[in-house]
Amino acid sequence: SEKLIKCFPSAPDLIPPGACNLLNSSTIYANNEVDLSEVDIYGFDYDYTLALYSNALNALIYNTARNFLIEHFKYPEGIRKYDYLPNFAVRGLHYDIQKGLLMKIDAFHYIQPGTVYRGLSPVPDEHVLELFGGTYHIPLQQDSGFYGKGPKVKQFMDIFSIPEMTLLAVANDFFITNDIEYDPVHLFKDVSEAIGMVHLKGYMYKWIMQDLDKFILRGEETEAVLHRLVSHGKKLFLITNSPFSFVDKGMTHMVGKDWRDFFDVVIVQADKPHFFTDCIKPFRRLDGNGDLRWEKIKSLDKGQIYKQGNLFDFLRLTGWRGSKVLYFGDHLYSDLADLMLRHGWRTAAIVPELEQETRVVSTSRYSLNLTWLQALTGLMERLQTYRDPESKQILQEWQKEREELRVMTKNMFNPQFGSIFRTCHNPTYFSRRLCRFSDVYMASLSCLLNYDLSYIFYPRRTPLQHEAPLWMDQLCTGCMKTPFLEEMSHIR
Ligand SMILES: [Mg+2]
Repeated sequence: SEKLIKCFPSAPDLIPPGACNLLNSSTIYANNEVDLSEVDIYGFDYDYTLALYSNALNALIYNTARNFLIEHFKYPEGIRKYDYLPNFAVRGLHYDIQKGLLMKIDAFHYIQPGTVYRGLSPVPDEHVLELFGGTYHIPLQQDSGFYGKGPKVKQFMDIFSIPEMTLLAVANDFFITNDIEYDPVHLFKDVSEAIGMVHLKGYMYKWIMQDLDKFILRGEETEAVLHRLVSHGKKLFLITNSPFSFVDKGMTHMVGKDWRDFFDVVIVQADKPHFFTDCIKPFRRLDGNGDLRWEKIKSLDKGQIYKQGNLFDFLRLTGWRGSKVLYFGDHLYSDLADLMLRHGWRTAAIVPELEQETRVVSTSRYSLNLTWLQALTGLMERLQTYRDPESKQILQEWQKEREELRVMTKNMFNPQFGSIFRTCHNPTYFSRRLCRFSDVYMASLSCLLNYDLSYIFYPRRTPLQHEAPLWMDQLCTGCMKTPFLEEMSHIR
């Protein structure tokens, strides 16, 4: 075994030169090859796609929902003492409704050890195993279903759900630490209704409209993207679940009062994902006062505002089919899944978390940790065939070191749940869905500014398990430095 260690280079030597600088948060990442010159029509979701919101919104949603929980649902006053915890939860987590557990699940439906929380406290691995009958596996029939709303385990997918997970954790924590008996199923339902009330009662719309400067980020970049697309002769459309008055206010703020000139079709209150799956609701037109008109819709015209509708009518009336359409959205299920699986539009996912995650991944500390973790794993793989006591002793030490490295690597992202893209050794459930439902993904719409509109995105060819790892091939495509970045410096 000493021979094995000696023949291995030291960890820093294992990192390819320049590897730490390959990533930047303005890059667009490809799961599938996309040739922008083939894309004639660009479609957009509104919230968290065209309009990127500040995290300040999460604290307001949390505070208001917490107060609803106490005042409307008569929960104990003590819950009010819990302030919002901005970095507690991350997107894509699963929640076991009956057990009251928040956790991260990997692409193979296994819970990642060390990422299970009851209330605000971690649940020890042994206890997790006990709770799930001796396994970390979550059976498919309990799990999320297609849209993440499974009977027993729910996946939190949208960005709004971060305050919801935090409120759930806080309320669970209050009952547990005060030793008060409660039913986690009631709690789950009441918290989700309290969060729903923030939306339904229009609070969120009101806050944003009252202080657009504070809540909408990078509006000028959205304007630049739209302007660039239109000036290259592209057709644009908008499909949002939000009401017109709200979208109008935000778009006027970002783009100007003539924002509708950019779009060939504008659809509000579309009721996604049903918009993409059902063909029931016909389109209706809103007049200049925002009132609904009764006429039958026979065409979707520029300058008009439409409400509801469905994708089947949309395709029939516009003829915008297949891979000449690229649709941008932040919600993997409501925005992208059906388009990808049923309709063959190209899809682009907006994943704001990439900004922070690529920053971590680019640090030399992370590369060093990860490279050593991989090297150590390789050493363990080879050492396991030696059965002498000394080798066994070393193997145990390495196992311990590997565990420490795993925890260290995880904590560089979110101390509770780690990266939203990876568990220890696997992609997360979220990651797998992201790869399946999006052709390309990026931190924000503004990443598009860094690419020519005839650019071809090539995914990195990652070797399958039975294929030889050709490292040079991996470094060739998919991780090039972003072109044109310097030229865009004036807008950043
Ligand atoms: Mg959205």
